[in-house]
Amino acid sequence: MDQAQIDSLRALPVPQFHNLIDGKSVPASDGAVIDIVSPIDGTVLTTTAAGTVADMDAAIASARVAFEDGRWAGQSPAARKKVLLKWADLIEVNALELAVLGVRDNGTEIGMALKAEPGSAAATIRYYAEALDKVYGEIAPTQNDILGMIHKEPVGVVGAIIPWNFPMMIGAWKLGPALAMGNSVVVKPSETASLSLMRMCELALEAGLPPGVLNAVTGEGRVVGEAMGLSMDVDVLVFTGSGATGRRLMEYAARSNMKRVYLELGGKSPNMVFADAPNLDEAAKVAAAGIFRNSGQVCVAGSRLLVEASIHDEFVAAVVKASAAMRVGDPLKVDTHIGAVNSEVQLNANLGFVKTALAEGGEIALGGDRILQETGGYYMAPTIVTGVTRDATLAQKEVFGPVLGVTPFKTEEEAISLANSTVYGLAGAAWTSNLSRAHRMVRCVRTGVMHINTYGGADGTVPLGGVGQSGNGSDKSLHALEKYTQLKTAWIKL
Ligand code: NAD
Repeated sequence: MDQAQIDSLRALPVPQFHNLIDGKSVPASDGAVIDIVSPIDGTVLTTTAAGTVADMDAAIASARVAFEDGRWAGQSPAARKKVLLKWADLIEVNALELAVLGVRDNGTEIGMALKAEPGSAAATIRYYAEALDKVYGEIAPTQNDILGMIHKEPVGVVGAIIPWNFPMMIGAWKLGPALAMGNSVVVKPSETASLSLMRMCELALEAGLPPGVLNAVTGEGRVVGEAMGLSMDVDVLVFTGSGATGRRLMEYAARSNMKRVYLELGGKSPNMVFADAPNLDEAAKVAAAGIFRNSGQVCVAGSRLLVEASIHDEFVAAVVKASAAMRVGDPLKVDTHIGAVNSEVQLNANLGFVKTALAEGGEIALGGDRILQETGGYYMAPTIVTGVTRDATLAQKEVFGPVLGVTPFKTEEEAISLANSTVYGLAGAAWTSNLSRAHRMVRCVRTGVMHINTYGGADGTVPLGGVGQSGNGSDKSLHALEKYTQLKTAWIKL
């Protein structure tokens, strides 16, 4: 990464973004806009359309027409693959521009943003482009005078609602497999981080995706998101975001056309460190990065540190040291480890959690405050709270901020019981040199992803999904294609 290049990109004015409907950039039907505030310094960067219900309806109608006339679903797999590969190339060519735009909008440190956003989005789209002509139907083992065939068809119109923490990466997790299977899509980015995803959608058109196959409508969740959820013409709704919104989407589906709803929700992921961990220094550094990168705004963040009592004090001291060494600041500086919190609302919510943790008997081992207020931006010190009990708010509720709660345990059974004591089940980790224990932890901790002797990190070849109230579907890997596929049986008498 070249600082001078980043600095020149950040100096560029950000254009106004409109909705993308039927291949055209169009303002909201009533002309309303949303101010896009940069969390780096609190200034207004630009505006996006404050989409209306009419805009969402128009986008869905466009996607429906595009799907029914076969302008995309009807193309050969080789032709669809070519367009998606071109799209991935364009994302890659424009990676730094996209990353800087995204960071100005959502505050993620540029090192992480460049890799996780355009980097991972391009890889995801390429992965599904390569996969799409390897999806075969099946012939069922029927009696001799019957031919039983199972066709795999696109479902139709997919609605995708995206959060603000990694808009391009998570956007690609939905758009890649949905488009690969031949569906048409309407995407609704988060109102607090939409710019890079909108630009990425424009690049899809430049790559040759026919108009109407991918539409994007910005605006308030409770306006355009709700309109998408309640639409009678959306066949599949895919969502990443909070549990509260996920619950609403299920209600919308029940109240409308019973569309399929796939949810990727929050977590309270346990990072469990046993005294027999192979390298406690390494474990401490990874634990710090596992909660504090992107200011803790990572669904799989290791936000609960469970530590074997015999090493508790020594290990907490090592995590405090590693965390204190992480530089918080301007996310567009290449040496920043932790950027800005996405919004002032989120920052205040984070501080509220710290206050509650202290009132419930926790003790601050590091941080706890808003910092760098003179910049006008939204920054929070990495915060570690010890003495967090099993039922404490900090042990039970997702903060989605740079706040780590620490709880000691005495036995493996207690560690498992603590790990499984929340309504979530997204990710987790165990650090141990004991092979049998490592496998037991994978089996016994109820999560979608379990790490051993590392934290976070995964590529597109493996699914990411949660159990319990962390969600009901998986993004990534070939398994994600199933969400965007309709099975159809042909029962033929010979
Ligand atoms: P959010 O639920 O507030 O918003 C997510 C999206 O839903 C936004 O686009 C928003 O506009 C839209 N929305 C809000 N209200 C809506 C409504 N009534 N109807 C329809 N749409 C509506 O979540 P957020 O704050 O943007 O994201 C943070 C959450 O996302 C955290 O809980 C985090 O753990 C979760 N997350 C999960 C994963 C995963 O893979 N499981 C990944 C990243 C983030």
